[in-house]
Amino acid sequence: MQRMDLHTHSHFSDGTLSPAALMEHARCSHVDMLALTDHDTLDGLPEARLAATEHGITLVEGVEVSSQWYKPNKKNPFGVHIVALAPKNLAPLQELLAGQQQIRAVRAQQICQKLEKVTKTDPWPEVLALADGRAEGVTRSHIASWLVQKGIVARQQQAFDHYLKEGKSAFIPLAWADLKQVLEVINASGGQAVLAHPTRYGLSATHIRYLAGLFKSLGGHAIELPSAVEPPATRAMIDYLIAQHDLAVSVASDFHGNNMPWLKLGHVPAVKENQRGVWEQF
Ligand code: AMP
Ligand code: MN
Ligand code: MN
Ligand code: MN
Repeated sequence: MQRMDLHTHSHFSDGTLSPAALMEHARCSHVDMLALTDHDTLDGLPEARLAATEHGITLVEGVEVSSQWYKPNKKNPFGVHIVALAPKNLAPLQELLAGQQQIRAVRAQQICQKLEKVTKTDPWPEVLALADGRAEGVTRSHIASWLVQKGIVARQQQAFDHYLKEGKSAFIPLAWADLKQVLEVINASGGQAVLAHPTRYGLSATHIRYLAGLFKSLGGHAIELPSAVEPPATRAMIDYLIAQHDLAVSVASDFHGNNMPWLKLGHVPAVKENQRGVWEQF
């Protein structure tokens, strides 16, 4: 079987490598099939296509789309990431992503305004520079890096825990596209919709089960298997949901680069014999 990694980032979002360097890293890591899935943008793909050819990598075109859904009886939306893989027609996705990029740029500046009260200096110009001047590419990870650089927090996780996550002072409520719309657009593009890292949203098992059912009913195709470092009981729960809803599986590291050194390219969980790979539909 080919060695695959179907969810990775470049510096077109919060990864540290260029798409070309990512492809070179894939070759050195013995990954043959790699999906580039930056947050809410397809802009890294032209460079990735050229570099994939150069390095003999099978590129799977993709994007990690931010979306939102509602827990039963809750008024506030909850964020979820949907990885779109191998779209045949990029136009419907591009249209959705243009809106998402607008939301991302505005939100990033609002977060910086909130932080200015704490930092006494406007973080925006330097945060923007960290994202190579692309306002539409700024993620909370960039803002977390800035807070680390300034010595305001020691580690990225502290930036989320003290300022950036829900309920904290610099959190801006989500306004991403609804899960239903995101799945409609991915289906219209002829791509495969993958529920990304279902066990990394801090959801209860009950809510993960609900989300998996909702995802399937709205036209989702596959779920990412939990990483091998997660407990066996977590993997067993996801395996159960995959079988229950007749979903395919995806294998991914969510590689970002040396900003998240614990996520290693090509380090992906093993697929069980009875599971169907999303790549069969590429
Ligand atoms: P954004 O799409 O701008 O909300 O930022 C997404 C990135 O922030 C993701 O790639 C995660 O790596 C990171 N992230 C989101 N929530 C958290 C959290 N609670 N703790 C640490 N990192 C997080
Ligand atoms: Mn990220
Ligand atoms: Mn994600
Ligand atoms: Mn990701």
